[in-house]
Amino acid sequence: MLKRACAALAFLFLVAGAYAQQASAPVTALVGGNVVGIDGEAAIQNAVVLIEGDRIKTIGPAASVQVPDGAKVVQMAGKWLLPGLMNMHVHLGLRLPGAAGAALANETDPQQVLRMANNARLSLLSGVTTVRLVGENHGNDFALKTAIQRGEAVGPRIETAGEIIVPTGGHGRLEADGPYGLARAAREQIKKGASWIKIAVSGGIADTHGSINAAPMTDEEMSTIIEVAHRNGVKITAHNGSNEAAAQALKFGIDGFEHGYHLSEATLKQMKAKGTWLVPTIVVSQSGAMEFFKKIGSPDWYLERARSTGKDHWAMLQTAIKVGTPIALGTDQFPFEPNEGTTATIREAELYVDAGMTPLNALRAATVECARMLGLEKDVGRIGAGKYADIIAVDSDPTKDIKTLRTISFVMKGGEIARNDAVAR
Ligand SMILES: [Zn+2]
Repeated sequence: MLKRACAALAFLFLVAGAYAQQASAPVTALVGGNVVGIDGEAAIQNAVVLIEGDRIKTIGPAASVQVPDGAKVVQMAGKWLLPGLMNMHVHLGLRLPGAAGAALANETDPQQVLRMANNARLSLLSGVTTVRLVGENHGNDFALKTAIQRGEAVGPRIETAGEIIVPTGGHGRLEADGPYGLARAAREQIKKGASWIKIAVSGGIADTHGSINAAPMTDEEMSTIIEVAHRNGVKITAHNGSNEAAAQALKFGIDGFEHGYHLSEATLKQMKAKGTWLVPTIVVSQSGAMEFFKKIGSPDWYLERARSTGKDHWAMLQTAIKVGTPIALGTDQFPFEPNEGTTATIREAELYVDAGMTPLNALRAATVECARMLGLEKDVGRIGAGKYADIIAVDSDPTKDIKTLRTISFVMKGGEIARNDAVAR
């Protein structure tokens, strides 16, 4: 009797469990859109994308995918669906030299994290569903990441490097010296939740001291911090514009370089051979950014330094594309920042095409290549079964014309619609 009661109870739990699972995983069907062939394959015309909970369950032509009863159906006729954009060089708490930055001089951490949350929300609405943060303050990024994961704040998925670690006087805030000092600084960021380490191995455009071309870290320092990151299963990238610093970092196995302003063809070829990533952030040194810098009241010396770096930066990008250096898109501006009539993220992709990439490869640099760099290919970067439902929609095929990214009208992250311009609000 007891045995039977137990069995009955177990059955009840099973039923309840199945019911709970069903109730917690609503099904959404995106119907009638065309799914962009992100690997160069033909688009799926008149597709159905079935989403269960936060992941994609099935995808295929409407004729072959049954939309289950009770599914929420979203009409996508005439739209082109592509993976949510990814931006790999973001500072959500960014403050630059100039009037706008000066107004934030006394910003407290609570104020900053709220400003970052707003920037995260605007990033998502602009079509960016994953960001990599490469330098924030005081752990504010970890707090925001957790809040977004819990649904307490709205924003993209966040991978973050925490604070930028630099030798004293370097291009960053968290200074550490000697191999053990740098090891400890890296371990502290990893302990707080950093999934990347960001160091600066040369100066930056915004610096008032030091040369962009210098390589101020010792071999012992550089090799140790890279080793510590890797021993913790964390990748490490470097703010870098210098070939000398690049050669040193490549020797010890750095995973990527940011900006790369003055990198030579030889360095870019070596990066290709080693699979070292370049995150170009080309928007920050080109004409669209000059308007932005004027708007925020940047000082003349800053504008001049950005402008003079811009020429080398552009030539470097053209060479990187020509030799096939792995490129993941990043902007160093807010992902949604207005730039030449669109956002910084989209402008960055357009500039890759202007510099020699095919539209398909520019799109890949903003999606699958980022996923590959992050080691998150099984979760993000493609519209495919089992991946997070991070999907955006535009008016025509962006593999034919990258400028069509300017027509983003729908943004879904993890199965939740963050924006749908077709629905009146
Ligand atoms: Zn940056």
